[in-house]
Amino acid sequence: MTAAPAIALEGIGRRFGALTALNGVSLTVPEGQIWGLLGHNGAGKTTMMKLVLGLLRPSTGTVRVLGLTPTGPEAGALRRRIGYLPEAVAFYDDLSGREALRYFARLKGRPAREADGLLERVELAAAADRRIKTYSKGMRQRLGLAQALLGDPRLLLLDEPTVGLDPIATGRFYQLLRDLRDQGVTTLLSSHVLPGIERHVDRVAILGGGRLLASGTMEELRAATPLPVSIRLCGTWPPGQWQDLVSDPRISVRRHAAGDLEILVPAGGKLDLLRQLMAAEGVADISLTPPGLEALYAHFCHPDSPRRETP
Ligand code: ATP
Repeated sequence: MTAAPAIALEGIGRRFGALTALNGVSLTVPEGQIWGLLGHNGAGKTTMMKLVLGLLRPSTGTVRVLGLTPTGPEAGALRRRIGYLPEAVAFYDDLSGREALRYFARLKGRPAREADGLLERVELAAAADRRIKTYSKGMRQRLGLAQALLGDPRLLLLDEPTVGLDPIATGRFYQLLRDLRDQGVTTLLSSHVLPGIERHVDRVAILGGGRLLASGTMEELRAATPLPVSIRLCGTWPPGQWQDLVSDPRISVRRHAAGDLEILVPAGGKLDLLRQLMAAEGVADISLTPPGLEALYAHFCHPDSPRRETP
């Protein structure tokens, strides 16, 4: 028997009065993957997480989480298998980190000692007995993450988890998610900060105006767009060498400096062009950059913008 997906949304709609926050969203997140849920402010990311948690009911469609219905009779048991880090995590500032986490452990029906192990795991052991009011933003965020990890959840829902973390703490945070993934834990994390996230997630889902605009691996997203590959050429070549390329309407050439050219070519024409470049005189180095997450995001969120055009 194959395991139920961690999350299965089918035709989800959610209205708040006259406002449609989600519209016809279908998405399947298998177990043991890290997903980035991306979208502008108000795109519907938090609403989707609250539906998965069972804090909201869908207006239309069905939500299944780890094979169960989050608002059904199994809701309590399901909630214990989910860890949630809300966007604005609030603590009693006069408590120490340890006291706060033990309090959350009690609420989740977990032994207090679990809190101590988690403080180590998020590297807060040294500050565990300090009052939270003395914590930096990053320390509060890590305490929030420890709270989400109470009870060994199978699914983590993290709303903007890296806000307030410096680059080193961000790197450690993603390492922790990878370690958990190796144990089969699924993570859905939302973010509107794109730079760097593609290295850390297995797949992305892009929401815009309440609709699912795209989902899949970076390769799958690239394959669904006509965005060009960038080829950077360095070397010393005779004048006029690239005249044929410059006049090819499918290709766009930018000269960054003498002996440093960038060529934008549709993915389908990449290999032919590379063969031609390898055989050309004076080329010392060639590097290739496929479209990154920011270009893909812009493409799916603003399909009519000029960035969509293949030069
Ligand atoms: P952000 O990145 O700013 O957190 P988001 O993608 O998480 O945004 P949501 O919080 O899901 O977006 O909101 C989606 C839309 O639904 C917004 O227009 C928001 O104002 C609206 N909305 C969310 N919750 C409610 C509510 N309880 N009542 C009325 N409207 C709501």
